[in-house]
Amino acid sequence: MNKPAIRIAVLHFAHETVTFLNNDTTLADFIYPGSPASGEALLRAYPKSYMGGFVKMAREFDGVELTGIESPLWPKTGIGSGWVTEQAFETFAGRMIAGIKAEAAFDGVYLCLHGAMAVRGVPRPEAELARRVREAVGPKVFIAATFDLHGNEDEAFLRYADMAFAVKYFPHYDEYLQGERAARTLVRAIRGDYKPTHVTIRVPVISPTVLQWTGASPWMDLGQRALVWEAREPDTYVNIFFGFPFADVPDVGMTVQVLTNGNPELAEQVGRDLAATIWRRREAMLKSTKIHGIAEGVALAKQAVAGGKTPVVLADHSDRSGSATWVLREIIAQGLSNTLIATITDAKATAKLKAMGAKEGDSFDMDVGGLADESAGSPVRIQGTILRAVEGHGQLWACVRFGQNNLLILSTYLVQIMKRSSLKALGLDIDSFDVIAIKSRVHFRRGFDDNGFAKTILLVEPEQPFLGTTRLDGLPYENVDLSKFYPYGDPVFPA
Ligand SMILES: [Zn+2]
Repeated sequence: MNKPAIRIAVLHFAHETVTFLNNDTTLADFIYPGSPASGEALLRAYPKSYMGGFVKMAREFDGVELTGIESPLWPKTGIGSGWVTEQAFETFAGRMIAGIKAEAAFDGVYLCLHGAMAVRGVPRPEAELARRVREAVGPKVFIAATFDLHGNEDEAFLRYADMAFAVKYFPHYDEYLQGERAARTLVRAIRGDYKPTHVTIRVPVISPTVLQWTGASPWMDLGQRALVWEAREPDTYVNIFFGFPFADVPDVGMTVQVLTNGNPELAEQVGRDLAATIWRRREAMLKSTKIHGIAEGVALAKQAVAGGKTPVVLADHSDRSGSATWVLREIIAQGLSNTLIATITDAKATAKLKAMGAKEGDSFDMDVGGLADESAGSPVRIQGTILRAVEGHGQLWACVRFGQNNLLILSTYLVQIMKRSSLKALGLDIDSFDVIAIKSRVHFRRGFDDNGFAKTILLVEPEQPFLGTTRLDGLPYENVDLSKFYPYGDPVFPA
């Protein structure tokens, strides 16, 4: 007789919500060709990320059967949208629970999450999803999840789920690896070989994401310390959530989670060690990256070009809509040449270009960008020539040559350029530019810094504390009391 199969339900629900943006993330944003996805289509959705690692590893085990329950993929707005509507959350959560019940019974559930989703009327959406899944599958079924380290999570999630695995690197190099771990540990738990015990410790530190690069100390040291614990104590897994401060939700800030195999004392010991390490290094953590004003940053870029320290990456880390024109305006004002600006988000302009059938060689004279909200600034008039207009990834990309060999790329949605190869797909020779102005906080380091490509890196933000700023006390929080967090208040830790 064949051994009965281990049946695992697989679900996906992920967003990193900037609640200060004024465009809600709606039901329609999650619906596009390919999304929602179910069955094999869901399992194949993100082959190099958490989902890919989970599916590959789960199928290394004999008799494991995966069922992709209908789930939305990332919304088409990417990370450039605000509050997820209650309708969107309720629609998909409802369909997920119905799907689980329809395909029952399961031995395990895998939740492929992010952790920084913010839903109107649902304070802790990932924990709420876990609670509903727990209610649907009963107390004996194991629930495992993967998370981005930007997740805002407190004790609530592991009250309903059994296991969580978060990435340790920012840029997030280890998504696939965490998916693999989730699969292996979930199957072991189902087989009775792993007894998940855990501790969650909140550490009252809040930080803007641009500072959280794990290529520099002390953020690098935190990850290293977690890796050391995992290396010396078999079956121990450590998550350090750096948190995502641009979601106005009650569980922002840093959180440590430790998972052990039936050893609560060890979980407690490791958790306390990591939490104490964070607290000890808190001051240095907030000084790990230098941020310049825009005019100063552009002037420094010009100096770097004059001094031959090229290519220069000039990153407006704070632009959350993609439409911000502050850097573009300053590049023109200071007369930079041989500069690539990638990208300015402008759905109207790209729609107009599409309608006109814009093509190479056409002249271009339009106001671009700005207006999304005050953080985006005002539009900038660009006169030049269209070098290329192509459709890809569900949007139009228009490359406009202007000024002294400058190139502006317009996009329909917010685009975070992380790798040079993503621009090479447009047929551009990135390596020929002296200055590359992008919208990214840390992810660009995978393609521009970690490999030694950029000789100068300048992170900039506008003078005003707009959304996306490093000065979190300039943000209109309603659900977060900053005085309870270092560096804005003087919290006592451990409490
Ligand atoms: Zn992240």
